[in-house]
Amino acid sequence: MTTPVAPHVSPSESVLQSVYEAAGRLRTSPEVVDLLRTSWREVRAQIPVRMESKRLQIFEGYRVQHNGARGPYKGGVRFHPKADLDEVRALAMLMTYKCALMDLPFGGAKGGVMCDPLHMSETELNRLTRSYTQHIGMILGISRDIPAPDMGTNAQTMAWMMDAYGQKYGYTPGIVTGKPVELGGSHGRDQATGRGVAVCMREYAAIEKANPRDLKVVVQGYGNVGSWTARLASEMGFTVVAVSDIKGGICNMEGLDIAALDRWFSVAGSVTGFEPAEPVTNEQLLEIPCDYLVPAALGEVITGENAANIRARVVVEAANHPVTPSGDEVLAKRKIPVLPDVLVNAGGVTVSYFEWTQNIQQFRWPLETVITELEKRMVATFHELMGRSARDGTSPRQAAFDISVERVAKAILLRGFV
Ligand code: GLU
Repeated sequence: MTTPVAPHVSPSESVLQSVYEAAGRLRTSPEVVDLLRTSWREVRAQIPVRMESKRLQIFEGYRVQHNGARGPYKGGVRFHPKADLDEVRALAMLMTYKCALMDLPFGGAKGGVMCDPLHMSETELNRLTRSYTQHIGMILGISRDIPAPDMGTNAQTMAWMMDAYGQKYGYTPGIVTGKPVELGGSHGRDQATGRGVAVCMREYAAIEKANPRDLKVVVQGYGNVGSWTARLASEMGFTVVAVSDIKGGICNMEGLDIAALDRWFSVAGSVTGFEPAEPVTNEQLLEIPCDYLVPAALGEVITGENAANIRARVVVEAANHPVTPSGDEVLAKRKIPVLPDVLVNAGGVTVSYFEWTQNIQQFRWPLETVITELEKRMVATFHELMGRSARDGTSPRQAAFDISVERVAKAILLRGFV
């Protein structure tokens, strides 16, 4: 007998599935649910860029503002070939719930440009960013919508966005977060998401009464989030046994020397080829027997098709939406807990919040303060979520949505949106 293949659920439908379930448990008013089903505003813009070849290429870009009941819209900008409107919409929804879960005074937004930054020059990316900023500038604002980096973008992209916005509206460093420190960025923003991931693993290990040294960790992705996760997890004593990037992965069941790997990466530009380790593909990496599996790159990598092959005890979602609903179902049946993205990768937006407040006050915190404040919030939210999950007999993802949908719904009612 063949296993029936689950129909493909779009990214935004997947997020909505969690929202509907939470609304059912919470008995949320149907009018509020109706409001949360769609975005408050979606901008689709044509982004013309003169390429190095002198050819004019027209990209498609978006900014989706999902819900602003709890504060200004907040969320990153993704440069990726698959960043279409539905994906950006789903990610904007996730930001609404992530900010609510962390109790940050923000709503949720996301931006994206469908492009392949790996095959674009620095000049082309600079032009693309400026053109995109010009096209969405009218809906941004320090109290309205504050972008940040995401996949395919970084501190340099934010510097260009800040500059392009400033040229039209005047110098406004708080218009974006994740800027270079030299331009008003916060210390610790680069490592913030990875630190949050590592803190969640440390706290989960404490619940399991396990010593990190005895826990094998696999990380998919070695970009900003994956590399900081591997670095900080290994500093906390975890045994990181495998990592990968777009070119492939490496595995050493005795543990990888992450400091040596970083030196290798800075020269080779990839984790592949590092020794002592065995090469593995990205697909094989997901199926390595380990304690904590951390998808920290693309979305939708654990699906109804491959979830049966996962040999990790726990899945830690460092990427946004790495497990599809059918993947989630299979993992639940196999009693493999999933720590959800809206908690696990929330360290990034939390330090973005710190950056925004520092910019408004024209003041800067030292790195130690950023780390202490971030840890405090991650630890508190982690235990609040796990407590709720234990109390209600729900999964960590369900508990995360219960807490956040409740908060967003409350703000919607208080503000009189419905
Ligand atoms: N792009 C990150 C995320 O998905 C950070 C967003 C932000 O800092 O605003 O959470």
